[in-house]
Amino acid sequence: MAENVRARPMEQGHLWEESEAATAAGDSMVGPLVGEPDDSATTPVMAQYLALKREYPDALLFFQIGDFFELFFDDAAAAAGALDIALTKRGKHLGQDIPMCGMPAHSYESYLARLIRKGFKVAICQQLEDPAEAKKRGAKATLRREVTRVVTPGTLTEDALLDSRRNNFIAAMAEAEGGLALAWLDVSTGAFFAEAIAADKGREAALAAVLARVGPQEIVLSDRLVQRPALFEILRDWKERLTILQAVRFDSVNGKKRLESLYGVAALDGFGAFGRAEIAAAGALIDYVQLTQKGKLPRLAPPMRQGSGTTMEMDTATRRNLELEQSLAGERAGSLLGAIDRTVTGLGARLLAARLAAPLADVAAIEARLDAVAFFRDDDDTREKARAALARTPDIERALARIALGRAGPRDLAALRDGIARAGEIRDIVAAARAKVPALLAENVQGLGHWGALVDRLSRALAPELPALLRDGGFISPSYSPELDELKTLRDESRRLAAALQARYAEQSGVATLKVRHNNVLGYFIEVPAKQADRLTARADRLFIHRQTMANAVRFSTVELGELEGRIATAAEKALALELKIFADLCADALGRAEDIGRAAAAIAAIDVAAALGLLAQVEDWCRPIVDRSADLAIEGGRHPVVEAALKREGRESFVANDCALGDGSRLWLLTGPNMAGKSTFLRQNALIAILAQMGSFVPARAARIGVVDRLFSRVGAADDLARGRSTFMVEMVETAAILNQAGGRALVILDEIGRGTATFDGLSIAWATVEHLHEVNRCRALFATHYHELTALAERLPQLSCHALKVKEWKGEVVFLHEVGPGSADRSYGIHVAKLAGLPEAVVARAEEILHRLEKSDRADGARALAGDLSLFSAERPGPAVVDSEAERILRDVNPDALSPKEALELIYRLKATLGENGS
Ligand code: ADP
Ligand code: MG
Repeated sequence: MAENVRARPMEQGHLWEESEAATAAGDSMVGPLVGEPDDSATTPVMAQYLALKREYPDALLFFQIGDFFELFFDDAAAAAGALDIALTKRGKHLGQDIPMCGMPAHSYESYLARLIRKGFKVAICQQLEDPAEAKKRGAKATLRREVTRVVTPGTLTEDALLDSRRNNFIAAMAEAEGGLALAWLDVSTGAFFAEAIAADKGREAALAAVLARVGPQEIVLSDRLVQRPALFEILRDWKERLTILQAVRFDSVNGKKRLESLYGVAALDGFGAFGRAEIAAAGALIDYVQLTQKGKLPRLAPPMRQGSGTTMEMDTATRRNLELEQSLAGERAGSLLGAIDRTVTGLGARLLAARLAAPLADVAAIEARLDAVAFFRDDDDTREKARAALARTPDIERALARIALGRAGPRDLAALRDGIARAGEIRDIVAAARAKVPALLAENVQGLGHWGALVDRLSRALAPELPALLRDGGFISPSYSPELDELKTLRDESRRLAAALQARYAEQSGVATLKVRHNNVLGYFIEVPAKQADRLTARADRLFIHRQTMANAVRFSTVELGELEGRIATAAEKALALELKIFADLCADALGRAEDIGRAAAAIAAIDVAAALGLLAQVEDWCRPIVDRSADLAIEGGRHPVVEAALKREGRESFVANDCALGDGSRLWLLTGPNMAGKSTFLRQNALIAILAQMGSFVPARAARIGVVDRLFSRVGAADDLARGRSTFMVEMVETAAILNQAGGRALVILDEIGRGTATFDGLSIAWATVEHLHEVNRCRALFATHYHELTALAERLPQLSCHALKVKEWKGEVVFLHEVGPGSADRSYGIHVAKLAGLPEAVVARAEEILHRLEKSDRADGARALAGDLSLFSAERPGPAVVDSEAERILRDVNPDALSPKEALELIYRLKATLGENGS
């Protein structure tokens, strides 16, 4: 850190005094923390610090002392390490040095941001008065300080701390009446949701899927739930984001009361049929947010119930694997979202991400979205005009959230004004379109609202150039309030007079370097170099009154300056107070229309998304998918949007489009082909096309018909998961188990080289059994890529299985990948060719070829027999345990039931029973 955060007056020894108020006469408002030299007694400030720290044990306490925020003890050590700033010490407590670090109060936000990003919570304790005020309460008074806010990763509102293109969700998990539920909200936008976790297909898996969809920055749960063994596995994925609270805070009766009072309703039924667990989660969430905001609550939309069945479910592994929002490297570039996002507002970007995270499962809702996209794809003129207006539309959702929390600055009101003004423009642009506006879009346009009066008032009230902070005033436009103008004139006039006095006093005293200056403690004063002070003190008329002697300068006042000071201070104070009052009125005005603003924000977001997807469809030549309730996944000329873009960027060969036709008769495709041929790409592109279609986007294909997918699974064999400390093969098997246990008839399963992570025969056997299970039990659509060519033998026995392969061409001893998918199966792996391409030493390649040749030759003779002998499953018979017939079975085999008399039948039963070795009873 280049910034010298330690250079400040408090380092000077003379400030180690007993009370803060006593320093009021000095140059600094900084008070002592600990009385030296006697360290046995805790000073009042120290006592204050310790008391506050006790209330926030798991947050770093930012303790304001004058112009700095200081951290002490363990907090200081943790923060100094995380921020890479100097850790110093100050005074002693119980005989020990007190570690300390700190940062200037005016620039603390960047430090805060870094700490929050590292997962810390921060309690901000502000000094609520200056020493002069404290002094009025007694010379020894301690400054009033209070924690004004607890900043946690899930409760941010500052633009500086937030990603404008992503929601920042905080979630709470609760249990009631045996049911489990999740509630989540975004403090910075007011969006609020709740969902009961379905219990039918395994509660834990369902919970994991919902968490993966929401992606909360912070999860609040009870000390009881966190100890539930069944949840260990899931919570481990989120362990850095957990906030654990006492179970009493998750009481559903209190939660219900809290929600009812928040929305001013007598019953919650109007918002949906919430279960007890959902209410407990939502109530606990509000409680916690309120706690962090010190009693203030953001404006929250009524909680929307999310139910299973309305969206396409995907678990964490699937999302990660398909690189939906992040590439495997953890970046946005290289992800599907990165490839499709053409939105121009933060509002739209957040909605697009949310839609991608939760594709729909309802055909009508998908069609409605597609209509809106089609509208913008076809009407270039309207789209470009709308996008130009959108690009100039500020984030009114986040501005409104700050206004509601009383944390807004002047620029938030300006953002709101500009945003709603744009909403009007966008409405006019869409209304002027020649084509018929589809229903959903028309609804959005309606939602944009009418804003004439509010825009007008804000425009008149706000100054053209706005400061970032309210603190110093200057944000209300001249001529908006005559009373304010008058006060400001008075203030400025007096300031000019004070400045004019400097010239007069310099002349009167004969000290050319005399200055009239100002600080918060003395107000206006006259300052001369110490050497010249005599000229002022020696005067017979006593014009200059001594105030303070510094090391190099002496400060004076005069009666006239004192009067002027009073006038200026009063006028400035009144002006600022009036500005703040006008600001508060404007905020109240805006909040009066909070609901309309929320609706306009949602409409802007939806229009931005539709226009962006329309543009994408046109520029990239994507087609409108047909989504229905069939069991098909029929894609003609499909492409992988991310790989295609990468090839284009690198100027390499163009992407080869491929068809996919899963459906009745060929529900399951077995895909073989050498390494690097394009198997993984093909698998993923089909999954991505299904996701895109169901989120309501056009898709990268010539044509596509998709029977709604209710659950999507995607797994890659032997994916490394070292971070979670499990062997790669274990991960592969755990994930495969999840699929085989959960996939139902409407699922789409993508399995990429499952079984790769273990020895060949193990792997082959597992892959074999997995294919059979998918075919016989799950009976869902599936794409299965494998390098075990032996699996293709299954096609003879499994009617729904069809074999496809990626074609290669051998040309002058080289392998050329055509990236074309066609019927049939690959005969060879070409692994050695790939090894050669990768630059394996020639000698190694040659030797490998020789060994392969020999293995292949022996394979035809005894090798194959040995293999078949080893594993009966190669006989393409249904594998099952080899069982020797029991005696009962042998008897039954010989019986002809039609020929038995009743008596014989009874005797038969006795005989059968006897084979069990039991007697008749
Ligand atoms: P596999 O899984 O068979 O080993 P990949 O799917 O990983 O192969 O593809 C390897 C590389 O081949 C990709 O990174 C991409 O550059 C290229 N590729 C894959 N599919 C295509 C395609 N359809 N058209 C053009 N290039 C492709
Ligand atoms: Mg692959």
